[in-house]
Amino acid sequence: MLNVLTVDVEEYFHPSEVPATSIGNWNAYPSRVESQVQAALDLLDRHNVKGTFFVLGWVADHHPHVVRRILAAGHEIGCHSYAHRLVFDVTPAEFASDTIRAVRAIEDACGVTPRCYRAPSYSITLRSIWALEILVECGFTHDSSIYPISHDRYGIPGFRRHVQVLKTPAGPITEIPVATVELPGQRIAPVGGGAYLRLLPYRYTGAGIRRINRLENQPACVYFHPWELDEKLPRMTKGFLSGLRTYTGLSAMAGKIDRLLGEFRFARMMDVYPSRIASPHEAGIALRAVAG
Ligand SMILES: [Zn+2]
Repeated sequence: MLNVLTVDVEEYFHPSEVPATSIGNWNAYPSRVESQVQAALDLLDRHNVKGTFFVLGWVADHHPHVVRRILAAGHEIGCHSYAHRLVFDVTPAEFASDTIRAVRAIEDACGVTPRCYRAPSYSITLRSIWALEILVECGFTHDSSIYPISHDRYGIPGFRRHVQVLKTPAGPITEIPVATVELPGQRIAPVGGGAYLRLLPYRYTGAGIRRINRLENQPACVYFHPWELDEKLPRMTKGFLSGLRTYTGLSAMAGKIDRLLGEFRFARMMDVYPSRIASPHEAGIALRAVAG
């Protein structure tokens, strides 16, 4: 079973948990993305794994050689927006201009037009589901921005947990949610990496992926950020919960990903889900049905 490995390429001062930074002052912070991405590339290279790297347009503009290095290593280049603004905080017009700006920055950096999109902090929710139509208009064929869980900031509870094609007025888009498992009582728990991989023991993620692969016969989509591999990360969040979510477990993260890459098979999003997928959902689910 081939699983999907994804990496969200951004600086340590970009996550939504980091307060008081905005695109106007990002240049004031020392960059760490180049060495962090190199650490991610080395990790994947050790296991001969190719993944999908969702690149922030701002990073592509400021560090184009980093994007070229990712591409040269054989990975797929996706898009993680330009300015890391949460989709449900912007208007459709603002989302469209941010997306077009990101696509151009990535094209200018490496010559590739991204086809896969991941929103900052999984911020395509019922409030911002309109974004999928704009993504299709911007040329995207795959999206991985909807988390089918209940969470204080993101998620669509009850959303299908595995791949499906969604029909938007502009055309279809293949939606690939990050891995989750279903617990007794119809509770859905995330097992797809990021903070959950950092904060919880490895066996939690490992058991979750095994269950998805063996019991549900489905690939799991897993993600991490290059900054999660950086033990010397400057601490920038305020408040206990934000600090816990952002900085706990950094020193063990590389070892956990190394173990994950050794135990399971991973590939790029486009390898696991080529443009046409064979599934009962291939015909497409109307967006209206999802949005209620
Ligand atoms: Zn992000």
